[in-house]
Amino acid sequence: MEKHLSRPGKLWLVGAGPGDPDLLTLRAARLLAAADVVVHDGLVGEGVLALIPPHVERISVAKQRNRHTMKQDLINALIVRETLAGKQVVRLKGGDPFIFGRGGEELDAARVAGIAVEVVPGITAAAGCAAQAGLPLTHREDASAVSFVAGQCRDLTDQDWSGLAGHGRTLVIYMGLATASAIADKLIADGVSPGLPVAVVERGTTAEARVLRTLLTDLGDLVVREKVASPALIIVGKVAARADALDCLGAPGIAASLKDIACES
Ligand code: SAH
Repeated sequence: MEKHLSRPGKLWLVGAGPGDPDLLTLRAARLLAAADVVVHDGLVGEGVLALIPPHVERISVAKQRNRHTMKQDLINALIVRETLAGKQVVRLKGGDPFIFGRGGEELDAARVAGIAVEVVPGITAAAGCAAQAGLPLTHREDASAVSFVAGQCRDLTDQDWSGLAGHGRTLVIYMGLATASAIADKLIADGVSPGLPVAVVERGTTAEARVLRTLLTDLGDLVVREKVASPALIIVGKVAARADALDCLGAPGIAASLKDIACES
């Protein structure tokens, strides 16, 4: 195509934010309008995809019924090939490209291939979901440290959980639905209080968002009881008591009042 021969290709690794298209950056919106091709994952919401003009080619690397998510090396090869063909390529990823988004691997692949590449940050799920829930991830009285952890590790012992949650700390778990119960058990075994508040945000920042709250000891049960679906984020720490959430405590025996916890500070 003439147009592509006249200028070199370039790749942008762009964060699409947590779902609500209004949370896209102005730069991301501008790039979507000017791209030749947008390569996106399944996590990118319909509202954001709707901003891509009809003439722009779209390639989904999302999970489909008859195939798993495209392997990362194939995605790397795809975005490099499209850029080397002289196209303006937007690689659109949910949240921020560098928070559990494999953006680092794509950046490496672009550098190895010697193509021009730029990273555009996005609002990561932790920031978007917490803001929606009115839940301050840090708070002068409750938490002066916050950790983002991937919960999907096959073997939870891969991750050193000690010190990630508890006094003065907020723990945000991405991709932790399947392992929620095991993570809660591990934290409690490592000395974290079973009565620590936990908020679960499902489809944060979208019209279907749900914010549920319980105590750490009930986390695994809550996920099953409320049929929490992906994408969801788990936030563990005293700040969760401040969230604008639906209290979903399980057995009455564990119902140490979350209001009391919130008022202690
Ligand atoms: N790069 C993304 C994270 C990708 S990992 C970011 O910065 O947000 C995918 C995980 O992110 C999901 O399993 C879920 O834990 C979390 N997530 C992404 N979008 C979410 C949303 N709208 N609501 C709740 N959790 C979300």
